[in-house]
Amino acid sequence: MSTLYAVRTTGIVCRVGCASRAPRPENIVWFDELTPALAAGFRPCRRCRPDAEHPQQVFRADIVRQALAYLRLGLSVEEAAERLHISDRHLRRLVRQELGVSPREAVPA
Ligand SMILES: [Zn+2]
Repeated sequence: MSTLYAVRTTGIVCRVGCASRAPRPENIVWFDELTPALAAGFRPCRRCRPDAEHPQQVFRADIVRQALAYLRLGLSVEEAAERLHISDRHLRRLVRQELGVSPREAVPA
């Protein structure tokens, strides 16, 4: 099963499920792996990061970045977690995994 698609018109290769605009079907080239796509001259999408080994990490970095942005805007850790639809315990754990500090150490109140 193809897990990646490249778009001839943009020269970008995406994971299936990327949030970027859906290309026209006739412009799609399917790939099972990234290497042949890169060899064919396509560049990895910056949004879905098919070049990242662990998509989970990209996701985590994304959540953490957003959470810190909320904290800087004056929200509490609980409020930031609520907006990100995760528990505050989960958020604290993600921030610690990502940055090695607590949310409050990362963004002092
Ligand atoms: Zn993409």
